[in-house]
Amino acid sequence: MAETADFIVIGAGIAGASAAYELASDSRVIVLERESQPGYHTTGRSAALFTETYGNRAIRAITGASRAFFETPPRGFSEHPLLTPRGTLLIGRADQEASLALALAEGQRTLDAVSMIGGDELAAKVPFLKPGYAKAAVWEPDARDMDVHAIHQGFLKGLRARGGKVVTDAEVMGLAVDGDWWVETRAGIFKAPVVINAAGAWADVVAHMAGAKAVGLVPKRRTAFTFDVPAGVAVEKVPAVIDVDETWYIKPEAGRLLGSPADETPSEPCDAQPEELDLAIAVDRIEQALAFGVGRLHSKWAGLRSFVADKSMVAGFAKKTPGFFWLAGQGGYGIQTSPGMARIAADLARGRSLPQDIADRGLDAADLSPNRLSLEV
Ligand SMILES: Cc1cc2nc3c(=O)[nH]c(=O)nc-3n(C[C@H](O)[C@H](O)[C@H](O)COP(=O)(O)OP(=O)(O)OC[C@H]3O[C@@H](n4cnc5c(N)ncnc54)[C@H](O)[C@@H]3O)c2cc1C
Repeated sequence: MAETADFIVIGAGIAGASAAYELASDSRVIVLERESQPGYHTTGRSAALFTETYGNRAIRAITGASRAFFETPPRGFSEHPLLTPRGTLLIGRADQEASLALALAEGQRTLDAVSMIGGDELAAKVPFLKPGYAKAAVWEPDARDMDVHAIHQGFLKGLRARGGKVVTDAEVMGLAVDGDWWVETRAGIFKAPVVINAAGAWADVVAHMAGAKAVGLVPKRRTAFTFDVPAGVAVEKVPAVIDVDETWYIKPEAGRLLGSPADETPSEPCDAQPEELDLAIAVDRIEQALAFGVGRLHSKWAGLRSFVADKSMVAGFAKKTPGFFWLAGQGGYGIQTSPGMARIAADLARGRSLPQDIADRGLDAADLSPNRLSLEV
């Protein structure tokens, strides 16, 4: 006997959990997750930064539309603040002046508070930069750290409180349609008129099982690690420092620094692991910028950031596969956009138009539709 729902969501990462939470306000929702822990893949491996100047126009609009939820979540969503002050500096050397000018123009198009700083002001914010390294930096004061665990758990807990269900150890093995979708998993068979594909790096694999055309998703490996800093160096109040051409970044993480070479190596969908070469590249780039050497690596990991060609997200029904809904391509912004994307996905999956406040930010459903991608015709 199949268990039935109005919506079946495949994948309990941030995309699936948040969309399921929104849908559960008026519908029966079942989330199917392959792993025993919902945050095991990309969602549990992020750098936890909220920045409204990151990504293309569509990403910035959805990030901006997500801020209010993080700042004032529904009562009972989390016992902890979801955002805490951080700020970001997009930093550049003298030979990166053109990139700095572009980043400033782009940043100011999005946020009034963005400015260019240099000299003593920059040194005061990051006292341990190597003297003479940086020409200037684009300062975004309102960027925040996110409590990713609290956000993800808040969506899952809220989903359950609304009567929704998460089934773990439930890898989807096959999908068949006869008016309703029949979803075969390791934990049994489930049935619903609409299936939401929030399978992260595996979204094209799931589409293939359903007989839907791929959207050309490319999972890209990104490496991160935390490292010790010399005794007496205070890092906690330092902003995130990101190379303006995104070739490395650092940010405080529990008394240490988190570092990354900002790599984007195409990969098959998998349980991504860090490569020694990427770690070495990161250490080299970071040491060129800092007044001290990178200390002992405390922890290291990698995760897959999945993109389609235009780097916007994918949300909408597949044109030729009725009832098959895409929620994929979260790239490097899936946490910071999750409240906005969840509302977008829930409205589109119910057959409605985009939420008005998001449309007012200049976004059109066509910007996110799987049908904009040439592979989905
Ligand atoms: C190093 C790094 C730094 C990052 N920094 C940031 C940041 O600062 N800010 C930000 O907003 N974002 C950041 N990101 C990006 C963010 O983490 C992702 O966009 C987001 O986590 C993607 O969520 P997801 O739910 O799409 O994917 P996932 O979390 O991977 O979830 C997909 C789920 O689908 C499940 N699944 C797959 N196939 C099946 C199947 N057949 N059956 C059942 N379940 C299945 C998987 O097990 C998985 O749990 C970063 C990512 C990395 C790697």
